Order: sequence, then C-alpha cells, then structure tokens
Amino acid sequence: MQPTGVTSASWFTEEHTQFQTSVRGFFDREMTPLQDRWRTQGYADRSFWQRAGEMGLLGAAAPEEFGGTDAGKSYEAIVLYETALKGETSWSFMIQTVVLHYILAYGTEAQKTKWIPGLVDGSIVGAIAMTEPDCGSDLLAMTSSVQTVEGGYRLNGSKTYITHGTTADLVIVAARTQPGRSGNALSLFLLDARDCDGLTRGPAMAKIGTPGSDTSDLFFDNVYLSVGSLLGSEPDLGFPQLMTQLPWERLVLGIKALGAIDCAIASTVEFAQNRSVFGKRLIDMQNTRFKLAEAKAKAEMLRSFMNDCIAAAEANELDTATASMAKLMGAELQNQIVGECVQLFGGAGFMSESLIARLYVDARVQTIYGGASEIMKELIAKSLDREHG
Ligand SMILES: Cc1cc2nc3c(=O)[nH]c(=O)nc-3n(C[C@H](O)[C@H](O)[C@H](O)COP(=O)(O)OP(=O)(O)OC[C@H]3O[C@@H](n4cnc5c(N)ncnc54)[C@H](O)[C@@H]3O)c2cc1C
Repeated sequence: MQPTGVTSASWFTEEHTQFQTSVRGFFDREMTPLQDRWRTQGYADRSFWQRAGEMGLLGAAAPEEFGGTDAGKSYEAIVLYETALKGETSWSFMIQTVVLHYILAYGTEAQKTKWIPGLVDGSIVGAIAMTEPDCGSDLLAMTSSVQTVEGGYRLNGSKTYITHGTTADLVIVAARTQPGRSGNALSLFLLDARDCDGLTRGPAMAKIGTPGSDTSDLFFDNVYLSVGSLLGSEPDLGFPQLMTQLPWERLVLGIKALGAIDCAIASTVEFAQNRSVFGKRLIDMQNTRFKLAEAKAKAEMLRSFMNDCIAAAEANELDTATASMAKLMGAELQNQIVGECVQLFGGAGFMSESLIARLYVDARVQTIYGGASEIMKELIAKSLDREHG
C-alpha cells in the first residue's frame, strides 16, 4: 500500500503493483459512476459484486480449486485500501473477506465447495451476525441459541446492526450451544438466507453515515439448521474461532481507515490549492500548511505500521494486540484527520454531497463497530499486563 511511494513495504512486489493498477482502473471505470446511486438506494448493486468477482478482486485469498487465485491477504489489503481511497463505503468487501476467511479456516470440504466459489465470483454476498440488542462488546452475553433436534438444530433469537442484513445470501450466525457464559458455549452456523423458513430481516436501518451499506436486524424463529450448517464439524468452538479471526477483521478496518485518510488529504490539498481567501490560496496560509503537514506525517506513520501488520497477516502471525492497535489508531486518526479536513473546506465541507462530508459521516462508525476503541484499548492493555506479568 504505497500510493505515495514514501514507505517501502516489504511485501509489495511487482505483481502487487500490477494488481493495484488494475484495481484502480476498474474502480475508476466501473465503481465511481455508481457511488452516488448506491448511497441513495442503500446498497451496492449485485451486478457490481459479480464484476468485481470477474476481475479477480474477491478471491485473492481463496485456493484455485474454489475459483480463487491463492495470491494471499496482501492482495485483499490492496482491494480494501483502494476501495477506501475512493471514499467508498457502500460496497463492503471488508465483510466479504471476513466471511471468506472463516470458511477457509474452519469449513469442512463440503462447506468450502458449497460457499467459496460463490463468495469469490460475487454471486453470493456474505454477512456475519454476532451483535444482539443486549450484547455488542460483551459477546459472551449473547442469548441467541440453538437446540439440538433430529438431523440438526433449531435457532431462536435475534441479531442487530448486521451489515448486508437485508441483502446477504449467506449469514454466519453466532449462537449459544450451551446455557450460561462458558467460553466454549458458542458455535458458528452457516445460514443460507436465500431459503430459510423462520428468518425475518428487518428493514434497512437509517444511519448517520455509510448510507449506501445496508444494516438491519435479523430475527430467527425456530430456524432449522442441518448438522452440515455448523461451521467446521465440532460444536462449541465458536468463541475461539471468533477470537482467532477477529485480528483480520480489525486489520481490515485499519486499512480502510488509512485509505480514507489518504483520500481526505488528497481532496483537501486539491481544494486548498484552488480556494482563495484574503487574496491568497488557502494552501498558502500557514495554518492550512501545518494542518496538512501534521495529517500527512500521521498518515505515513500509520502506513508503516499497517504495512507491517499486512506482512504479519500474510504470514498468519498477526496477534490480537497488534491488530487492535491497527484498528484503534486507524479509526481514531481517521476521525481526527477527516474532521480537520472538513474545517479546511469551510461551508463546502458541511454540504452532504461533498466527498469530504461523506468521508466525515462515514468515519464515525469506525471507532464503534468491529470492536469499539475502548475494547481495543482493553485488549492492548491485557497484552501489556501479560508481557510484564
Ligand atoms: C453500521 C454498523 C454496522 C455493524 N455491522 C455489524 C455486523 O456486520 N455484524 C455484527 O455482528 N455487528 C455489527 N455491528 C455492531 C457493532 O460491532 C457493535 O455496535 C459494537 O461491537 C459495539 O457494541 P454495542 O453497540 O452493543 O455497544 P456496547 O457494547 O453496549 O458499548 C457501549 C459503550 O460502552 C463501551 N464499553 C463496552 N465495554 C466496555 C469496557 N469493557 N470498558 C470500557 N468501555 C466499554 C463501548 O466502547 C461503547 O462506548 C455494526 C454496527 C454498526 C453501527
């Protein structure tokens, strides 16, 4: 991820450069013209998912036998970064890659064969449902549960704030398989939302940001899940599975933050070069220069760290505390920098149709979802306590 060439990432090869160029060209041609409409209609077109699949954007981490290119997480990082660099939040590749990695890591051969080719070609859109009305940060407070029945399970309960809730074909649902708060009491299920008696999707929720991405409640009323729907082949492994995959989800959000920061800085520099105040270009005012210089310095620090994290993720060595730092600092810096950029735009930055205003409203959720900043700090502090214990 080196749009400026300032940081020389150890993982960035000639093949990565070619891939990045092709992703950028594809987004310019086929995503940019659709972005306004997606924000109005509340979701990205399915046809775009399929085009992204055809272009090889969705399957970089999937083996060739399932339609992927087996190229690795660093290629997914490029897709994530480039999406955010375009200020795009409707098309949620971040959820698709998270879902894909759960199945790659834990799925049986039958589950991989059933779901991965569709996730890779864009004919299947994924979602992951953990949060409930009374359980967000504290996942062990979850009450959605399954009962074992002949040939499978019956699922009851509800989830809230689920990205792709109204449009997903496949939902990974976390549910309690044993009563109480025991760490091993959860399991993950692959729910086929295209054909599911007892599943009700709530309407798309109205949000203060990310209007182009659908978010909704899901209600489960005695939903039947076959034994083959249990992710992997053993029950009660949901909590460790979540804990192992969450670092990737957190890094994904950090990469997204970096792309949005770069987008905000570029757009603000361009504006400040063209805006005159008191007979001078806005960019010639010392305050503007200092604000942009600080933002750029922070972005480059973040980029170096993200590049290290991507290399670690590629080597399957990204630990919880490091991923939490990426999410924490990415999301916090994104909000800080984008907010300062809005100020430099003046009134133009407050107009909903401006790119910087979109970046501003879309940034806000970054410190909340995927593990709130406070939870990231807890995880980092726990690792310090262990290290120095
Ligand atoms: C747009 C959007 C999309 C989302 N998409 C998904 C999705 O696809 N799938 C999914 O499962 N969930 C999704 N979520 C849910 C999201 O992950 C949760 O909102 C988030 O984890 C916080 O949980 P909560 O809202 O229940 O807040 P709470 O957990 O109730 O937290 C409220 C406040 O308390 C603080 N807090 C909590 N615990 C501690 C602590 N130990 N120490 C200090 N402070 C603490 C929090 O940081 C927060 O500030 C989404 C949310 C949004 C807004």
